[in-house]
Amino acid sequence: MMLENSKYLFDRAQKFIPGGVNSPARAFKSVGGTPVFFDKAKGSILTDVDGKDYIDYVGSWGPMILGHAYEPVIKAVQETAAHSTSFGAPTEIEVEMAELVKRMVPGVDKIRMVNSGTEACMSAIRVARGYTGRDKIIKFEGNYHGHGDSFLIKAGSGALTLGSPSSPGVTKGTAKDTLVADYNDLHSVKELLNTHKDEVAAIIVEPVAGNMGCIPPAPGFLNGLRDLCDAHDTVLIFDEVMTGFRVAKGGAQERYGVTTDLVTYGKIIGAGLPVGAFGGKKAVMDVVSPVGPVYQAGTLSGNPLAMAAGFALLSELQDKPVHYDQLEEKTTYLFNGLKKVFDKWDVPVHINRVGSMISVFFTDEEVVNYQTANTTDKELFRDFFHEMLQRGIYLPPSPFESWFLANSLTQDMIDKTVAAADKSIEAALE
Ligand code: PLP
Repeated sequence: MMLENSKYLFDRAQKFIPGGVNSPARAFKSVGGTPVFFDKAKGSILTDVDGKDYIDYVGSWGPMILGHAYEPVIKAVQETAAHSTSFGAPTEIEVEMAELVKRMVPGVDKIRMVNSGTEACMSAIRVARGYTGRDKIIKFEGNYHGHGDSFLIKAGSGALTLGSPSSPGVTKGTAKDTLVADYNDLHSVKELLNTHKDEVAAIIVEPVAGNMGCIPPAPGFLNGLRDLCDAHDTVLIFDEVMTGFRVAKGGAQERYGVTTDLVTYGKIIGAGLPVGAFGGKKAVMDVVSPVGPVYQAGTLSGNPLAMAAGFALLSELQDKPVHYDQLEEKTTYLFNGLKKVFDKWDVPVHINRVGSMISVFFTDEEVVNYQTANTTDKELFRDFFHEMLQRGIYLPPSPFESWFLANSLTQDMIDKTVAAADKSIEAALE
């Protein structure tokens, strides 16, 4: 029976793990039902603990850009593990990794490895604050930068009010230093910068939003942020945890031709091992300890296994940029197939896409920010999601997530996905 073993494991998990999961998005809260427990994966095929196969559009939420159990990554991890899993002292692979990132993203003069995207973003704003001597940051509604206190902040009641905590445990004191602007709306940023003159240390932004579904930056938005940061001596931070090494070899900075002061990475940089990183211009990065006074550290940072895995994956992407062309083609092919299906069934839909990130919004409205993303028909997505799951297509279990394509997807898999979408939307509409 479908999900029998997953259901059994989920019951067990809920006894000793909060909500049965180690990260909330896995719990299927947005779509209901039992999360699928996985056993193994190869390329774009996942196998669950009941032995059922799925075509994967989650890719571990991004890292698996060339598919699961990618041979060079597995080999690098196995060989490295035999030499020890950690030294807590410098290793050659850390130097090679920093040099490789510099080749792929020329604007990154220096980089520091951490263990998650959350850590990268927390550290980046500390660095920006230390560099500027200012306290406040601007973030955008609907953008996610991990679970650091400063980011778990929602917009206040008016455009110019301060943010308020979006989670118990985050203090009002922290919230007062996070200002929330509207994505793709430079005017809202200008207002905040003018109201809080000489107080804003950094603007942090997902250059392509992925955490309210995929939303591309409007033309001029990212350049506009660059100009505003220059005019206000504010540090511009692109959170490229999702977009880094995905939307182009050099991430969104390359794709949109904007150079930031700081950038954060996660996901692909560790090839599925726990890695994050922050980097940027020398002048800013030189405030980081032990060169400068801004403290930042980690027992397992630059861990050899994680570095070996990330280095193997990034090297392949650096050496064969054709991966990006192929990903672009595959995503366009999927986009066209899905659009045709939804049009056939007369479903109001907007499908947003940048590179190999794509999201389906069941709405008449063009989706450009948090408000418009919220117009998506959540019930229809929930039903569509479960119909797709039954047909062996594993989508992110929420209408507000980006799907991530891997270059291990074949045309046949995408054809199967589109055929499943046809049957699934028909069933969901009933
Ligand atoms: N920033 C962005 C854009 C993300 O998508 C995420 C996670 O999904 C994070 C930061 C946090 O990364 P992590 O989950 O590795 O802490």
